[in-house]
Amino acid sequence: MADLLRRLGERAVVAGGSLAGLLSARVLCDYFDEVLVLDRDEIHDRPENRRMTPQSHHVHILLKGGEVATEALIPGFTEEMVSVGSVPMLAGRDIIQGSAFGFGQRWDGPITLHSQSRAVLEHCVRKLVRNASDRIVLRSKSTVRGLQYDADRGRITGVEAESAEGKRERIGADLVIDATGGGAGAMRWLSALGLPIPFVEEVKVNFGYSSAIFELKDGRDWKGALIGGPPPKISYGGLVMPIEEGCHIVSLGGRFGDFPPDDLDGFRAFAKQLPQPTIYEALEKGTPRSEVKSMRFGVNRFRHYERMGDLVEGLIPIGDALECVNPTYGQGMSSAAKQVKALSDVLAAHSGLDTPLSEIVKEYLPVAAEVATVPWRQANFNDFVYPQTEGDRSAFTKEEADYRMKLQMLSLRDNDVRLRLLKVGHLLEPPSILFEDEVAAKVAAME
Ligand SMILES: Cc1cc2nc3c(=O)[nH]c(=O)nc-3n(C[C@H](O)[C@H](O)[C@H](O)COP(=O)(O)OP(=O)(O)OC[C@H]3O[C@@H](n4cnc5c(N)ncnc54)[C@H](O)[C@@H]3O)c2cc1C
Repeated sequence: MADLLRRLGERAVVAGGSLAGLLSARVLCDYFDEVLVLDRDEIHDRPENRRMTPQSHHVHILLKGGEVATEALIPGFTEEMVSVGSVPMLAGRDIIQGSAFGFGQRWDGPITLHSQSRAVLEHCVRKLVRNASDRIVLRSKSTVRGLQYDADRGRITGVEAESAEGKRERIGADLVIDATGGGAGAMRWLSALGLPIPFVEEVKVNFGYSSAIFELKDGRDWKGALIGGPPPKISYGGLVMPIEEGCHIVSLGGRFGDFPPDDLDGFRAFAKQLPQPTIYEALEKGTPRSEVKSMRFGVNRFRHYERMGDLVEGLIPIGDALECVNPTYGQGMSSAAKQVKALSDVLAAHSGLDTPLSEIVKEYLPVAAEVATVPWRQANFNDFVYPQTEGDRSAFTKEEADYRMKLQMLSLRDNDVRLRLLKVGHLLEPPSILFEDEVAAKVAAME
């Protein structure tokens, strides 16, 4: 077994063994004698749609920024996915984008994406993380019910876990990661102990999804298709992405009660009303390979742990537990991977020093919030285009919305702007590159 980079403690407990939890375990195994990952689901050694991750039935795009971060954390990740059937796609060429205005121009931009089912993606991550170190122990059918807290030291000292048979166990930990997804997780555990909880920013988006797997007929000149808009007039859309075994996953979505149905006929009828017939025609000629699954997504949530002055020590939220945004924009997994990469970087920066763990956590939380702010703002900017979206719009000015709209229009004829938008959209570059002088000058010239 490889040596620790620096010993920060005997054990870290990760609550939640999905993407954020697994990647966190990979990082923490360089600093703790044992990393115990507890997940309430039954997890097998194969690709599967798990009960506790019902979102697995829907399209899961891995943005390039998420892929790069994941590859950095678990080298060989992309190769592993391709070896089990992931489909490479040139972002500007292989994915067509259509709205009521017509189709966007196709181009050979520099970004190659990899498309697969969420189940395969998670399986590849799990396999590589497990192979990375014997120090990582993954225990399934184990639900974290609460935290242990040492009031004298003001710090979390472990978790209380419950097995599928109802047996409770107290497990000591020097660090606890909440990677339990978008549910209440650590918020509930902290409240139960009478401890302060962070301010939660919420934006109500009221979104509904339905998805099914299809085998599509050959003869298309695209691998993926995104059809919808322009918003706010047209608030529904559809997305088709290739997955392994020659199949495609098709997700349809709508807002504010206009949700796609969960039966095949209704699904097709919803596809028929999209502003371009591409998806409907593909479905008509294709063969369904699964039933239709539906899901609602109500609220974008950002839990501002970084703003807590009286933060309890020994706890880190990661992934959807920190920030959970409208899945329409395909950012959740990438945000999680980038948060974990940031944790890895902060820990590495202290590996040769004797900084206490509590200080490292304090340094990390604002960094994680900064990482999460980018997808948060991107999602909310798009969601606030709809007047029915409820939330604090004060940080989302009309000036910036107009500026971004003009950038979109410019990108139709300006390759530099198009590339910048693509890189920001894929979380590869910060949004600030959209506001640099030379870009602002081009926008001003449009007045
Ligand atoms: C319909 C839909 C479509 C989406 N599409 C995309 C997309 O295209 N691209 C993208 O990047 N993201 C997408 N997302 C978001 C993505 O699914 C999440 O951002 C991502 O799964 C977050 O990972 P996570 O590990 O934080 O949480 P999750 O994947 O939700 O995992 C949480 C884990 O915690 C476990 N758990 C829960 N409670 C406990 C407990 N008390 N004790 C122990 N274990 C517990 C669960 O079993 C689960 O394994 C989509 C989401 C939805 C709803």
